[in-house]
Amino acid sequence: MKRPLLSIVAPVYNEEKSAGEFYRRLRTVLDANRYEAEILFVNDGSSDGSLGLLLNLQKQDSSVKIIDFSRNFGHQIAVKAGIDHAQGEAVVVIDTDLQDPPEAIPDLVAKWREGYDGVYAVRTRRRGETLFKKWTAALYYRLINRISQSPMPLDAGDFRLLSRRIADVIKEIHEKRPYVRGLVSWVGFKQTGVLIERDERFAGKTKYPTRKMLALAWNGITHFSFLPLQLSTFVGILTSIVCFIWILHTLYVGLILKVAVPGWTSIMLALLFLGSIQLITLGILGSYLARNYDETRSRPLYIVRSREGFE
Ligand code: UDP
Ligand code: MG
Repeated sequence: MKRPLLSIVAPVYNEEKSAGEFYRRLRTVLDANRYEAEILFVNDGSSDGSLGLLLNLQKQDSSVKIIDFSRNFGHQIAVKAGIDHAQGEAVVVIDTDLQDPPEAIPDLVAKWREGYDGVYAVRTRRRGETLFKKWTAALYYRLINRISQSPMPLDAGDFRLLSRRIADVIKEIHEKRPYVRGLVSWVGFKQTGVLIERDERFAGKTKYPTRKMLALAWNGITHFSFLPLQLSTFVGILTSIVCFIWILHTLYVGLILKVAVPGWTSIMLALLFLGSIQLITLGILGSYLARNYDETRSRPLYIVRSREGFE
């Protein structure tokens, strides 16, 4: 089977007002650049007329394909499903609400043709989003870039292009609650960014209320950093230093100055001593848990770019 050049992966959750316009703008870009492409819509359990609209598009355009979920599984899982089903030489992940401009696809493709395996869109501006969202997003990208085991580009969402070899690795990863942009960074190879301005939603409202946004952020952190698990070791070591000084003070007050209420000295000692021990032990448990967690995720241990001199 011959692969199309591009697979466009577009998750759809109640986008009946945007999906039609999205398709028109996308089709224009694909035609203008003569890209041979399949358009893969993943209908993530929409309860509006989205599916009917997509089926209509599919009737008119045989390059449209639809993966229809049995219920709402969430944006990241929809994107993962799209990548899993994509046949193209390169896969472009893009939102259906037109916040990611389809007109930027040729820029992504150009970088890919220069030899990059991953090309992510960096948001230089976000239109129509609250200050709260902009600030928390900016802060989050900086935090995760710092504590993640693999570097993550700042201010880049899921609008990006993946080469076939990155898509093939992602396909083999079967983590629950995937964090796609993190996995793509983790895979490695040569990746770069192109600047885009993120538009306002074409219609409807965000399907990412603060609760889901926080869940996604926490998901990213726990998937790519063991820091939260090991944090209590650091805290434990710090507090045990403080506690040690405090213990000396307690002994001084109780035994030398003899001004303490009877029982205070022994209670304080037990409290400070046990408190520090507990925190350190929690951190040790965390370290083992992190190991275990690492083993149970079936990420490949390494990814080879090329092999030379083998038969
Ligand atoms: N989406 C999805 N499933 C969900 C939530 C969102 O497939 O549970 C889709 C949605 O239709 C859109 C994209 O994911 O194409 C991004 O969602 P949204 O625009 O609501 O997020 P925001 O841009 O506000 O962060
Ligand atoms: Mg959006």
